[in-house]
Amino acid sequence: KLEKIQPEVNIGVIGHVDHGKTTLVQALTGTWTMRHSEEIKRGMTIKLGYADGEVWECEGCEFPENYTPEPVCECSPNLKPKLIRRISYVDAPGHEILMATMLSGAALIDGAILVIAANEAAPQPQTLEHFLALDILGIRNLVIVQNKIDVVSTERAKESYNEIRKFISNTWAEKAPIIPVSSLKRVNIDALLAAIEKYIPTPKKDYNKDPLMFVVRSFDVNKPGTKPEDLVGGVLGGSIIQGKFKIGDEIEISPGTQISENKYEPISTEITSLRFGKYEVEEAKPGGLVAIGTKLDPSLTKSDNLVGNIIGKPGSIPPAINELEFEYHLFKNVVGSKEEIKVEPLMKNEILMLAVGTSLTIGTINSISKEAVSVKLKRPVVAWKGLRVAMSRRIAGRWRLIGWGLINN
Ligand code: GDP
Ligand code: 5GP
Repeated sequence: KLEKIQPEVNIGVIGHVDHGKTTLVQALTGTWTMRHSEEIKRGMTIKLGYADGEVWECEGCEFPENYTPEPVCECSPNLKPKLIRRISYVDAPGHEILMATMLSGAALIDGAILVIAANEAAPQPQTLEHFLALDILGIRNLVIVQNKIDVVSTERAKESYNEIRKFISNTWAEKAPIIPVSSLKRVNIDALLAAIEKYIPTPKKDYNKDPLMFVVRSFDVNKPGTKPEDLVGGVLGGSIIQGKFKIGDEIEISPGTQISENKYEPISTEITSLRFGKYEVEEAKPGGLVAIGTKLDPSLTKSDNLVGNIIGKPGSIPPAINELEFEYHLFKNVVGSKEEIKVEPLMKNEILMLAVGTSLTIGTINSISKEAVSVKLKRPVVAWKGLRVAMSRRIAGRWRLIGWGLINN
């Protein structure tokens, strides 16, 4: 039963701002995630959106109409659809100033849908930047959506298709499918689901290891004015990497809270509830975005305060480190800006922003060799061998992706 309630796979919906990511997530799930563009205009802080969707199959309907996001058979009301998978969609903001949020979300995803609007030339700066982020994080399961086909002529649709083909030619994604879609008019959503089923399989996860989870959101879920006796504890949202958590488990959250300038202390608490979207469960394993209810004071978890932490069983989380050493690779050009800017070599004492898992931290380069760099971090991170690091440098007032790294010890 758990299999069907808990989503099996996390899919990132990525791409340039206004290309239709949020609208597509709505078409796939029936819910609205954050309206990033409007929030930016209003100057609010922007959070990662996530929503759960389903894939239903109607045996008896023709391909691809046999796939639907809802339990209805398009070809005949008499047929009974079958639930194939539940999917968590992570809606990454496409605005250039929100690249860090995108990287933090990308740490959780098993595959991606790259949304490219047909009515603009491809690639736009964040189309390229998000695409490269997939590459550096090692995400290889990709479906490309050519969106907004309802607002372009057949000619422009073909031209846009060729631009996209050219953009991915001679890259790892050369063979990725390109599905023409109108997210707004819900055209070709069935074909998109068919492509998701084929190209973004459910990954194999290890359920028997000590559990670990990346925190990507944290909440105070109490509405203003709640009576003290009705208050519930802090909620942590994220994705389990390995192992299982169940209600009643003692957990540790690391690096935890800051106690002095350079010192952080892990937080201990107990799991009081587990939730996938609107479904309460007793036990959660890897797959989907889970919300863990705890006994913590909600002021600790409010406003995404604990994003970037790792949750595990007490004593089993890899150590939090203050100086991170990794093998690095720089890009030739800075990614994400309209102009072409060369990536200059790293310099001792320069400041970088590193994305390590869902954690974002600023650090100063302490030493560099040709292959490896050591960065003294402003905020410690929990890291382990094999984890990838996205590196950004501040250029003309913006953090720009300049390369990536791999932790080797
Ligand atoms: P995001 O910034 O990538 O999340 O983009 P949104 O989903 O917020 O969409 C940006 C704008 O494009 C909104 O006004 C949408 O209504 C519109 N839009 C999204 N998808 C389509 C589509 O397939 N066709 C048309 N005509 N408009 C679309
Ligand atoms: P919201 O503040 O938007 O209602 O909820 C934020 C997140 O916390 C959602 O992912 C929601 O499912 C989750 N959530 C809300 N209340 C609870 C709760 O009592 N227990 C758990 N485990 N999650 C909750």
